[in-house]
Amino acid sequence: MLHEAQKTFEQRGIKGAAGLSVDFEKMMANKDAAVKKLTGGIEGLFKRDKVTYLKGHGKLTGPNSVTVAMNDGGEQTITAKNIMLATGSEVIEKLPFVSVDEEQIVSSTGALALKQVPEKLVVIGGGVIGLELGSVYERLGSKVTVVEFLPTIGGIGIDSEVSKEMQKILTKQGMTFKMSTKVTGVEKTGGTVKVTTEPADGGAAESMDANVVLVCVGRREFRDGLNAEEVGVALEGRKVKVNDEFQTSVPSIYAIGDIIHGPMLAHKAEDEGAMVAEYLATGKKPHLDYNNVPSVLYTHPEVAWVGKSEDQLKSEGVAYRKGKFAFAANGRSIANMDTEGFVKVLSCKETDKLLGVHIINAIAGDIISGACIGIEYGAASEDLARVCMAHPTVSEVLKGASQKTAFGKAVSG
Ligand code: NAD
Repeated sequence: MLHEAQKTFEQRGIKGAAGLSVDFEKMMANKDAAVKKLTGGIEGLFKRDKVTYLKGHGKLTGPNSVTVAMNDGGEQTITAKNIMLATGSEVIEKLPFVSVDEEQIVSSTGALALKQVPEKLVVIGGGVIGLELGSVYERLGSKVTVVEFLPTIGGIGIDSEVSKEMQKILTKQGMTFKMSTKVTGVEKTGGTVKVTTEPADGGAAESMDANVVLVCVGRREFRDGLNAEEVGVALEGRKVKVNDEFQTSVPSIYAIGDIIHGPMLAHKAEDEGAMVAEYLATGKKPHLDYNNVPSVLYTHPEVAWVGKSEDQLKSEGVAYRKGKFAFAANGRSIANMDTEGFVKVLSCKETDKLLGVHIINAIAGDIISGACIGIEYGAASEDLARVCMAHPTVSEVLKGASQKTAFGKAVSG
């Protein structure tokens, strides 16, 4: 809101934006209250549905038993016909030369609990978390430098055309990117932190000072103290091995989410958990199409995609059609003063079946749902192009891009 006010209020004729400032403590308290309401809501659901909630660390002690080291002391062992593992992932914080203290050198956990907006923030890793949290602090006034080992930002699976455009947009917002660069040292020096970098393929070292360094170089499966392998749960690499019904090599034990295959995303884990519950309770066999799990970067503007990227289609040798429509030509986006970004629709050259949709927009994460529905039901780009969509809305750009893909031209834009 602050960023929007600073960017648009004067032009819109709303006075006073120049005098706005942030009470960061209050902002964080409001965020904490939202988190508490949501997690408290889940506890409420447990009560309603008569789910017993044991607060403690669970350890498998057999195919049908879990022993819990209770947070408030003591141990409790429970037995069950079935067990579902959903232990998730943890931040990889241990670059050999970095020690995270969650105050000056922080992971995403510490970055969500800073006491003040840092004047200078260095972000190590320009993936999902680096862009999301880096851009939040940049919009709150920090001078942000992102150091990324690869030549592209946005993490795994992002379409390279989208990644390039997003880098341009974030650079315009004020973020600095040091691409193809590795961090070789992070050292606390008095009140600040000195970050030393080198070009990824060798070259002269440089250094910069930061008030806070955010380390976000990925997450890894969390299985500490779970005792899974000891009771016979097989792994494939670092992942727990499961069959199509999320059953591990121990038939009574199931696993879902970040500890099994697929992207480490909350909505993917949620759907898998619900499916396991459905298998066990009803014997029905619903399935999840992993090609249709959307990814969203919650930056401003957001980035969202579903299905294949152009890079993937090229490397798989798939012939495709491509249509792109910019938000700059969309009435609602112009009125909203939010014209950055585009929708790109990719379909099979021969059959026109939708293969992938990629969006940069303030509400890309919401617009992508239309594309998910299309892909889930096997739509062609022409199907989306012929859906009647309300005018004036931002979502119409999905229709415009689909028209470009299906017919090579669109009604407007
Ligand atoms: P990431 O895998 O998205 O990005 C890590 C980045 O760090 C990569 O671009 C990598 O090249 C770079 N990197 C690795 N080592 C480096 C080094 N030494 N120096 C410089 N760069 C280095 O990981 P993340 O941002 O930490 O997020 C972790 C995971 O959490 C994501 O993969 C995602 O699954 C999940 N997540 C998702 C969302 C979302 O969906 N909106 C939000 C937060 C987290």
